[in-house]
Amino acid sequence: MVNPSPRNGVPFADLSRSLARDRHELLRATEAVLDSGWVVHGRQHQLFESELAHYVGVSSAIGVASGTDALELSMRAAMPKGKNTVLTAANAGGYSSVAARRAGFRVRYADVEASSLCVDESTIMHAVDGSTGIVVVSHLYGRFTDIRAVVTVCHERGIVVIEDCAQAMGARIEGSHCGSVADIGTFSFYPTKNLGAVGDGGAVVTDSPDLAAAVVRLRQYGWNEKYEIAVDGGRNSRLDELQAAFLRTRMPHLELRNARRREIVTRYARAANDNTMITVLDAPEESHAAHLAVALAPRGLRESVREKLSRAGIQTEVHYPIPDHRQVGFSVDSPPSLPITEDACARVLSLPCFPEMTDDEIDQVCCTLEHLS
Ligand SMILES: *Cc1c(COP(=O)(O)O)cnc(C)c1O
Repeated sequence: MVNPSPRNGVPFADLSRSLARDRHELLRATEAVLDSGWVVHGRQHQLFESELAHYVGVSSAIGVASGTDALELSMRAAMPKGKNTVLTAANAGGYSSVAARRAGFRVRYADVEASSLCVDESTIMHAVDGSTGIVVVSHLYGRFTDIRAVVTVCHERGIVVIEDCAQAMGARIEGSHCGSVADIGTFSFYPTKNLGAVGDGGAVVTDSPDLAAAVVRLRQYGWNEKYEIAVDGGRNSRLDELQAAFLRTRMPHLELRNARRREIVTRYARAANDNTMITVLDAPEESHAAHLAVALAPRGLRESVREKLSRAGIQTEVHYPIPDHRQVGFSVDSPPSLPITEDACARVLSLPCFPEMTDDEIDQVCCTLEHLS
């Protein structure tokens, strides 16, 4: 998935470093699971759910198999009766579209606001229609976008708001964590996320006992109790015991690792500051979990910027190149006009940003950014 490190260069990501660093704790967690005799939904899973709920500041956290499942099960649980449409952004990697389509819902897209690259109350109001039952806001790149006004306008219209926090775990505004502000929050523990498993994992968080109970049923076949199917649309989507144990060993380090990510992005932003070629989206405060270090290239020049960085040994990626409404696999009839989304998709590039980067590597990226022309 991630290319091997360029020689004398800076890799975009390198999981081998965190795995080596955490090896001892991961092995101890493995032993604890093997010794317990429970391999799914055991004590580690239960403890992880309660630690996650406590961390985010909500009453319930429900472990599921992935961030995409967290979105799908949340949508199934929360879609108001008589509605069938999910409204979302088209620049956030397609995950909410995949989830909504899998749940059998219609998908509509709102454009994003230019500074946050997230939907806001005005772009949403522009795009809602009578069938819209759910709005998904993705805290893109780790930036906790202020959704209080979104929640207000949606609730006035009976629309449920889901926060996709897959990239923003730990981000907070005035002490409130992302995931705790809207009706439901979803997380992914894909290995490169800020809190990464050693495989797949996800979670749903909510303060609503009814929504929590609905997701709990849906993640195991629609069961109310064992072998008694109470609701349709269920599936098997469990966070397994080993992953829960691994996540528990890493959770206490999340704050420090997020701070390191922020430091990296802030240094890049400063280095690029005097450069007219690119702008790095800064991550200065705790409202940003700095999942990705994203830069904007001038229109039409992204590939040449990436080529220059590559020649300097710096690997880059693009998050994300194709907006959802242009994805061939979704075959959206008459794609909507989303000018800011399309402009962003054509200009963004992501620089290396992971807590295990060395100071030398960060310096190398900064130096290259300073001299980019
Ligand atoms: C990674 C990611 C997801 C999906 O998570 P998986 O665990 O890979 O299914 C959803 N939304 C966003 C914004 C993501 O970055």
